[in-house]
Amino acid sequence: MSNVPSIQDVDVAGKTVLVRADLNVPMDNGRVTDTVRIDRFAPTATFLADKGARVVIISHFGRPKGVRNPTLSLEPVAKALAKSLGREVGFAEDCVGEVAEKTVWAMKDGDIVMLENLRFHIDETENSDVFAQRMAVFSDIYVNDAFSCCHRAHASTYAITKHLPSYAGLSLKKELDALSSVLGDPERPIAALVGGAKVSSKITVLEALIPNMDAIIVGGGMANTFLLAQGHPIGASLAEPDFIDMANKIMATAKTHNCEIVLPVDLVVSAEFAANAQNETIPVGQDPGNGMILDVGAASIEDLTNRLSGLKTLLWNGPLGAFEMEPFGDGTFAVAKAAAELTKQGKLVTVAGGGDTVAALNQAGVSDDFTYISTAGGAFLEWLEGKELPGVAALTEQN
Ligand code: AMP
Repeated sequence: MSNVPSIQDVDVAGKTVLVRADLNVPMDNGRVTDTVRIDRFAPTATFLADKGARVVIISHFGRPKGVRNPTLSLEPVAKALAKSLGREVGFAEDCVGEVAEKTVWAMKDGDIVMLENLRFHIDETENSDVFAQRMAVFSDIYVNDAFSCCHRAHASTYAITKHLPSYAGLSLKKELDALSSVLGDPERPIAALVGGAKVSSKITVLEALIPNMDAIIVGGGMANTFLLAQGHPIGASLAEPDFIDMANKIMATAKTHNCEIVLPVDLVVSAEFAANAQNETIPVGQDPGNGMILDVGAASIEDLTNRLSGLKTLLWNGPLGAFEMEPFGDGTFAVAKAAAELTKQGKLVTVAGGGDTVAALNQAGVSDDFTYISTAGGAFLEWLEGKELPGVAALTEQN
């Protein structure tokens, strides 16, 4: 269990509670197209309002870089939140200054208000103490409920904690508890499945995982560089030859830690990087010629599925293939379904995170069956690396 102070430990009745949420949701033409982040945050807003707090929600949206940009207003998000909560959510056209202050001073206990995009002010990403103070003037308590923003020391995740008593919201607490139970004292054997496009973007993650894992399953484009390092032909596949030495170093380090590096045993290759492109399955070692490796083959799926049955805990980041294009999601979906089935049977704890991973698991239809899925991208990876997340550290430092 994480030791951050929680909003469940404090009396919020009659208090103005400034809540940092991550409501940076997908939007198309002013319409919210995916409400996962809103729905995950909703219990915190309801909890606080029901306890009689005046709930003031802050969030960033997109990258306006300090410039007011009407297309990046949070107003449509406030409407979507109101719909999800089934109650009114007010809106103020600025997050600091007279507009924000007047709106907040007019609130009653149990009211909910959202303030305009934090990043309309450059001070937010600069972690400005003065900017944080301008939000603290109308607030009594600060709550962070945005795990996905905790890897950034911004005014709304870091500086603000120097001005107000600070607590974790329900979803942040839940996320930290789920993650710390997996890396803190996991049930063994434990393996990490790390896939995705490039080795270079996840080297530090791979290195950090080695001492903690019994096995690391490498998939997706990343596996190609490892196959190259082992001397196998990979044709025209995505790979990073500059990282062959690094792949060899990772395999050698893993050996000294008794951590098995698991690579595909067969590959689905195609001459075209396109949906429904003609393809064939070849064993590792066979030259794909001009073909590109776009997924793992049936023998790899069987191998991975068998391995899952011998595990107690699985951590997952990154797809096993170019899952967005049919049929190259087959490997990812089949292994995801096997992991979900074992989880349902109570035999495996499964924790996954990262934007593409969440999309792939959704597409496989298994999101509800995994033990925990983190929607955070950067914060999830930094947490996997064992880095201290400034937004979380700020909550524990104050005690
Ligand atoms: P990442 O953000 O590093 O997790 O990478 C995810 C992306 O990797 C997805 O868009 C996949 O389509 C892509 N990907 C996975 N495997 C392959 C592959 N063998 N070749 C090309 N792209 C891949």
